[in-house]
Amino acid sequence: MAFVQMSSSPSLSSAMTSSSFAKPAVDRPFCYCEVPATLRYSHTGRNPGRPFLGCSKYNTEGLPYCKFFKWADGNHEYELQLQECLNELLRSQRELKKKLDDMKKTLIQLCKRVEETEKRELGLQKQKVENCRSRRLLGLYWAFVVIVSCYVVLCR
Ligand SMILES: [Zn+2]
Repeated sequence: MAFVQMSSSPSLSSAMTSSSFAKPAVDRPFCYCEVPATLRYSHTGRNPGRPFLGCSKYNTEGLPYCKFFKWADGNHEYELQLQECLNELLRSQRELKKKLDDMKKTLIQLCKRVEETEKRELGLQKQKVENCRSRRLLGLYWAFVVIVSCYVVLCR
């Protein structure tokens, strides 16, 4: 059972680490235990009968084995396509992230501008109120001056 699981998932990780496929495949590569890898055949639904190289210690009772995995049918095109897809996805992810960042920046700027406008409006309102008050004060002052001068004139 573990055999099937092993042959399905590491293909993706081997496509992601560029080191495993960038180099041209040697006929009999060594696994991570530095032992020549063994040729086996996949039993998964996606890759039935596809040859792959794995650790030769796998399935040997009592012995630890490594997770070395490599398709052995020389289908580098497939791996390259996968890698290209992955690169494309990563690129678009980066672009999306950049766009999102830009949008965030724009939103922050817009918020700031709204705040500034609100502040300016508030300032204008305050000024209006102050103008009103000072006009009223000026009126009161003149009324007071007139009353005082009338009083002075009448008291003479
Ligand atoms: Zn090994």
